[in-house]
Amino acid sequence: MTNQNIIVWFRNDLRLHDHEALDQALTQSKSSNSQLIPLYCFDPRQFGQTSFGFAKTGAFRAQFLLESIADLRQTLRSHGSDLIIRQGLPEEIIAEMAQELNVSAVYYHQEVASEELKVEAALQAKLVKLGMKCHSCWGSTLYHPDNLPFEIANLPEVFTNFRNQVEKTSIVNPTFPTPQTLPNLPIISVGELPQLEDLGLTTPEFDQRAVLSFKGGESSAIARLNHYIWQSDQLKIYKETRNGMLGADYSSKFSPWLALGCLSPRYIYEQVKQYEHERIANDSTYWLIFELLWRDYFRLIMAKHGDHLFRQSGLRGLAIAWKEDWERFALWQAGETGFPLIDANMRELAATGFMSNRGRQNVASFLTKNLGINWQMGAEWFESLLIDYDVASNWGNWNYNAGVGNDARGFRYFNILKQSQDYDAQGEYVKHWLPELAALPSTKVHNPAQLIAVEQSRYGVRLGVDYPNPIVDLIKSVQANERIYNAAS
Ligand SMILES: Cc1cc2nc3c(=O)[nH]c(=O)nc-3n(C[C@H](O)[C@H](O)[C@H](O)COP(=O)(O)OP(=O)(O)OC[C@H]3O[C@@H](n4cnc5c(N)ncnc54)[C@H](O)[C@@H]3O)c2cc1C
Repeated sequence: MTNQNIIVWFRNDLRLHDHEALDQALTQSKSSNSQLIPLYCFDPRQFGQTSFGFAKTGAFRAQFLLESIADLRQTLRSHGSDLIIRQGLPEEIIAEMAQELNVSAVYYHQEVASEELKVEAALQAKLVKLGMKCHSCWGSTLYHPDNLPFEIANLPEVFTNFRNQVEKTSIVNPTFPTPQTLPNLPIISVGELPQLEDLGLTTPEFDQRAVLSFKGGESSAIARLNHYIWQSDQLKIYKETRNGMLGADYSSKFSPWLALGCLSPRYIYEQVKQYEHERIANDSTYWLIFELLWRDYFRLIMAKHGDHLFRQSGLRGLAIAWKEDWERFALWQAGETGFPLIDANMRELAATGFMSNRGRQNVASFLTKNLGINWQMGAEWFESLLIDYDVASNWGNWNYNAGVGNDARGFRYFNILKQSQDYDAQGEYVKHWLPELAALPSTKVHNPAQLIAVEQSRYGVRLGVDYPNPIVDLIKSVQANERIYNAAS
């Protein structure tokens, strides 16, 4: 009998189902009679500041993370193991632990962004020196890169080309089995789960207006999936409802759990296939998988282009003369622009850490195409607040929306007033988040700037007092920013 140990380093893969690193480690531990040490490290670098000075991991996201870790620990305990929790640099903590506990190998899922890759490289270098092995696997996408019809280096630069080729030729691998029991731990201090305050943050208050009371962790993720797909049968109308902004079920809301790996996209895929088999296969069931392909695409794009995604000139390398107008940026952040659709979405984000896809596209377009403000400021604000922050999806979508992405088709913008009419015709969404506009009829609620004095007093909204005047002229601002954009193209 050997008494060597194996570490499973949990990162953005906080689950037991479909966990390749855990599956491989278990196989190894059985064949070598080793013990298994599941580990999570709170890396202080993730709790610093972004380049524009926002909390890198804001309170909503951190809370969701803590809940996810607590749930993982609970599940591991119920399987006969535990989650070892440490605070510090993973590359140092793991290397020290590996020496102290006679570890033979470390298993983990690899990431794609440079901050995480640097940590992996530093860990590998330390472990190699110690004569230990690192086993990394790719586990966050629906399609495994090995099953794609091209190397990542040759990934198509246009999403539709990617999708067409993948759908024609690739298969989705089956999920890895969920372990029923796990080996005991060696003697080790398990470590305390930090509180938000320990991470320099304060507990955010839950806002009753939120679309959902999101709770981190694999258990809540599976419960949400069961609710959305099976109990409420929403999947069959996903394509019709997915552009909504109000309520829990207009879209799946899987993103926060996907971002931390509490939910595996392959598991979603299997559930959708089962649903298609047992209930109905239609455009909506297809469309949920289609959206997961966007997620895959951005992750693969990040694997291909790396830090180019973070650069102001974006993947297209466009030197656009963006503004750093902090006064207007603050109005955008606070939802005080005078455009109800933008303000409602930005207030929802600030109050809950979530915003619909429709909302995200509009506020990103407004920031970049109407205000002409540096899109990186918006991307970092999202990074700080979004509970579903995913480095590749966030920076990829911002590239795309700002018109600097690989797939971007010139200067495209959202007509905010048309979007308001198309997606919130009755004004229910904007009234939900902007109570000062509650008395306005639906014909007036999206453009309060046009209220004449008598209407302002009738509906109890004084422009510039109860609700702001518009900070830009929608048409003129788009024209001015188009000229700036075209000068760089
Ligand atoms: C500026 C901007 C920033 C964004 N930042 C993020 C982010 O940090 N994290 C994130 O997960 N999504 C991001 N998105 C994509 C999208 O808005 C969210 O994935 C979606 O709103 C999450 O809600 P849902 O789970 O109910 O989505 P659903 O409509 O139910 O879609 C199912 C899943 O498909 C994936 N998906 C859907 N749309 C996209 C998309 N455009 N790009 C990538 N994946 C997609 C998500 O994993 C989502 O959970 C961003 C979009 C924009 C325009």
